[in-house]
Amino acid sequence: MAVFPEGRGAGGEGERVHVVRLGVYGEEGPLAVAPVHFDADAGEAALLPLHLHMPARRAQACQRQSAFALFAPVVADKRFLIIGGGIVGLATALKLARRLPGARITVLEKEPGVGRHQSTHNSGVLHCGLYYKPGSLKARLAVSGVQEMTAFCREHSIPHEICGKLVVAVDEDEVARLHNLQERGAKNGLLGLRWLNHGLMREIEPHVGGVAALHVPQEGIVDYARVCATMLELITLAGNRVVTSARVTALREHASGWVAETTAGAFEGDFMVNCAGLHSDRVSELAGERREVRIVPFRGEYYQLRKEREFLVRHLIYPVPDPEFPFLGLHYTRMIHGGIEAGPNAVLAFAREGYKKTDIRVADLWDALTFSGLWNFIRKHKHMTWMEVERSFSKSLFCESLQRLVPEIRERDLEPGGAGVRAQAMSPDGTLVQDFCLVARPKALHVLNAPSPAATASLAIGEEIAGQIVPAL
Ligand SMILES: Cc1cc2nc3c(=O)[nH]c(=O)nc-3n(C[C@H](O)[C@H](O)[C@H](O)COP(=O)(O)OP(=O)(O)OC[C@H]3O[C@@H](n4cnc5c(N)ncnc54)[C@H](O)[C@@H]3O)c2cc1C
Repeated sequence: MAVFPEGRGAGGEGERVHVVRLGVYGEEGPLAVAPVHFDADAGEAALLPLHLHMPARRAQACQRQSAFALFAPVVADKRFLIIGGGIVGLATALKLARRLPGARITVLEKEPGVGRHQSTHNSGVLHCGLYYKPGSLKARLAVSGVQEMTAFCREHSIPHEICGKLVVAVDEDEVARLHNLQERGAKNGLLGLRWLNHGLMREIEPHVGGVAALHVPQEGIVDYARVCATMLELITLAGNRVVTSARVTALREHASGWVAETTAGAFEGDFMVNCAGLHSDRVSELAGERREVRIVPFRGEYYQLRKEREFLVRHLIYPVPDPEFPFLGLHYTRMIHGGIEAGPNAVLAFAREGYKKTDIRVADLWDALTFSGLWNFIRKHKHMTWMEVERSFSKSLFCESLQRLVPEIRERDLEPGGAGVRAQAMSPDGTLVQDFCLVARPKALHVLNAPSPAATASLAIGEEIAGQIVPAL
C-alpha cells in the first residue's frame, strides 16, 4: 500500500490554501482518496475533518496512525445502494467494491433475476467506438470499455469473439458519410480501420451489396447474459448483496443517507446510485430530482435468418447510420451461440418494457403523451417516426431495408426473432440525448442515459462512476 498526492482539488495557482487529495493505493489500484487541507505559506497540511464523524476515542487514536488508518475506516465502510441490476448497475457494484473493499454494497433489482431488460435484449455486439463524437463520454468509455469487457470475458471464460464488422455504403451519399465515420473512428483511436472497394468487401462477406465498406476489425460478439451472471457471482463472492424482486417504490433522504422502500422491505445506504435503465428518470424523481429529460422507449424488433440461409452472412454487416439518430440502423449480427439476427428497427413503444407490438401500459403511455419532448420529436422527425411504424408492421419493408446490405435476402428467409426496448433519454425540445449522462449529487449519482454501447462499456462506466463518487465521499 502506498499513499500519493492525487492533485489539487480546489484553490488555484497563487492561492494560499489548497485542498489536495491524498490517494491510498493497494496492489489492485486506488483504495481510497481523502481531501487534505494544504496551507502553502504556513507549510502545513491537515486531513479535512473526516475524523469528526468518528467517536472521539477513535479519532485520537487515528491521529497517531497513518493517513490510511485515519480515513479508510470512514470511507471504505460506506453503505451503497445501487438501484437496478442490469449490466451497468452490476458493473458499478464491482468497481465500487474494488476501490473500497470494506464498503457494503446492496444492488436492488425489481425482477426475480439480474439483467432481464436491455442488458439481455440486445444485439450482443462488442462495439469498439466507431460512431461516437470524439471527446464525448461515449467515445472515451466505448474505447476503453471494449478492451476491459474483452479482458473480463477472457478472464472468466465467457463466450466472445472479436470477429470484425463491415459498415457498408450503398450509394455515393453514404460513401461521403462513411468517410466521415472513418475519420471519427481514427480520432477515437480505433486500430486497423480499412477502406474496402466492392471486390475487397466480398472477400470478407461474399454476399454483401453496396459500393464501398469500412472494415472495423476490433468489433466483436459476446454473451451478455453470461457477463451479467458472472458479475452477480463476483459481487456476492466479495460479500456484497444483490436483492432481487425488490422494486424501489420510494426514496427518503436523511442527514447521512437514504432509505429505499422496496417490495422486499426497506434498505439503508449512505450513498445511492441510480442505474434503473428504462425507469432511471422515475427513480431520479423519487430521489427529489426534476424530470426534465425523460426516458422515451424505442422498441427494436429482430428477425432471424432461416438456418439454410445463414451462409449469406459471415460476421457483422451494418449500414451507414443516420447521424441525426443514435440508432445504428437494421444490421445483421452473427450471435455468439449461432444463428444470424437481422434488426433492430427503432419504433416508439407504448410501454417501457413493451417487447410486443400489442404491449400497452397506460402509465407509460400517459407519461409519454404528456411530455412535450415526444411531440417535438414527432414534429421534427415525422418521416422517420412513420416509416418505423410501417416497417414494424410490414415484413416486406423490413426485408427491403435488409436487401440494401445483402441483396439476395428474401422475405421467406426471415423468421420472427426477439425484441428489446431502448431507454433513450429525450430533452423537452425533442432532441435525443446522444451521450451517456451521469448526474452527480452530494449523496447520489444518477445514470440518466446509458443507451448502446453501454453494455460493451459497462465496466468502463462503472469505473467512471466509482471514480466520480469515491473522491467526493
Ligand atoms: C435492441 C437493443 C440492442 C442493443 N444492442 C447493443 C449492443 O449490441 N451492444 C451494446 O453494447 N449495447 C447494446 N444495446 C444497449 C445496451 O443493451 C444497454 O445500453 C445496456 O444494457 C444498459 O444497461 P442498464 O443496466 O443501464 O439497463 P437495464 O439492463 O435495462 O437494467 C436496468 C435495471 O433496472 C431495474 N429497475 C428499473 N427500475 C427499478 C426499480 N424501481 N427498482 C429496482 N430495479 C429497477 C430493471 O429491472 C433493470 O434490470 C442495445 C439495446 C437495445 C434495447
